[in-house]
Amino acid sequence: MARVRNFSAGPSALPEDVLKQVQSEILEYPGAGMSVLEMSHRGADFRAIFADAEASLRRIAQIPNTYRILFLQGGATLQFSAIPLNLLRCRAGYILTGNFSKKAYLEAQRYGEVDVLASGEADGFLSIPQLNQAALSEAGVDFTDLDYVHICENNTIYGTAFAELPDTGEAPLVADVSSCFLSAPFDIARYGLMYAGAQKNAGPAGVTVVIVREDLIQQGPAQAALCPTYLDYRLQAEHGSMYNTPNTFGIYLAGKVFSWIERQGGLDEMGKRNRKKAELLYTALDQSHLFTCPVEPTSRSRMNAIFTTGDPKLDAEFISAAAKRGLTGLRGHRMLGGMRASLYNAVSLEAVEELVSFIREFESLQS
Ligand code: PMP
Repeated sequence: MARVRNFSAGPSALPEDVLKQVQSEILEYPGAGMSVLEMSHRGADFRAIFADAEASLRRIAQIPNTYRILFLQGGATLQFSAIPLNLLRCRAGYILTGNFSKKAYLEAQRYGEVDVLASGEADGFLSIPQLNQAALSEAGVDFTDLDYVHICENNTIYGTAFAELPDTGEAPLVADVSSCFLSAPFDIARYGLMYAGAQKNAGPAGVTVVIVREDLIQQGPAQAALCPTYLDYRLQAEHGSMYNTPNTFGIYLAGKVFSWIERQGGLDEMGKRNRKKAELLYTALDQSHLFTCPVEPTSRSRMNAIFTTGDPKLDAEFISAAAKRGLTGLRGHRMLGGMRASLYNAVSLEAVEELVSFIREFESLQS
């Protein structure tokens, strides 16, 4: 069976070049006489792999030395706890834009005072809410009092994304970028901390990248008595993410993905490709008489496009007919139903073109 067009939300498509390289090195990593799976994380070979991965990420995303990069485990989900444990001294603000930001908010509530600064729940999370500064200050929210403001920049389930980052004033912005990491250029100086589960744009499941401004972690965890040693950002930074055994294979593979991005032309090129892919799909959906994308146009994600015929039976038929053509991973999240096409970096323009022509073909067969 040939490789399919994989539109899964994560774990998701990886660049074929990367998989082939891994295949060629799996028995014997060049010069090591063993597989990367068999290496000590403290040996010279793995240390070089780790250093190359970090250096490559710093180059592609232009991350200066004032930010620390951590490669941790436990998924983005464990960061929902790590963030308040490290940064929540008094009060934090959360913007609710879907399931994951809500989970992050509920987790933070266990550790301190947390304000909801805006929520898209009233319209089913199908648009990104604006921060109403005037209303917030009337309600007594002062951004200078907030240890941080948390957002989920791209909402994998609802297919929405922040077109622009919110103005959080003095409060550092903390962003879950799991499903948009490395999909376009970004300015790290706008963030106090960003984190991403790697399994969408950056590698396999099991590695979580945390990029954090050094001054935010210098004092150690805000909740020192509660914070598990593993989740102490300062300690992890001091140990180069090797307080314990890291996910060696995951970091190796993420490093390969970073180099692939570099060889393709970096984040500028990723951004251009992703814009083109998303435009192609959303234009087809907007022109369709059968399919609709329910997301408010200015809030649409370039990474995850959700759509439906409005008829669950017909949606199921579409998903199964598409799979027969090798277009897979299109079933929408169980909370929403319908379809979702994830258009991460490793999903080619050709794959999206095939999906769009299948959408048109399926529609023409219905009338
Ligand atoms: N945040 C976002 C935006 C996600 O898409 C996901 C997973 N799909 C998570 C958090 C949770 O990530 P994990 O499964 O790595 O804990």
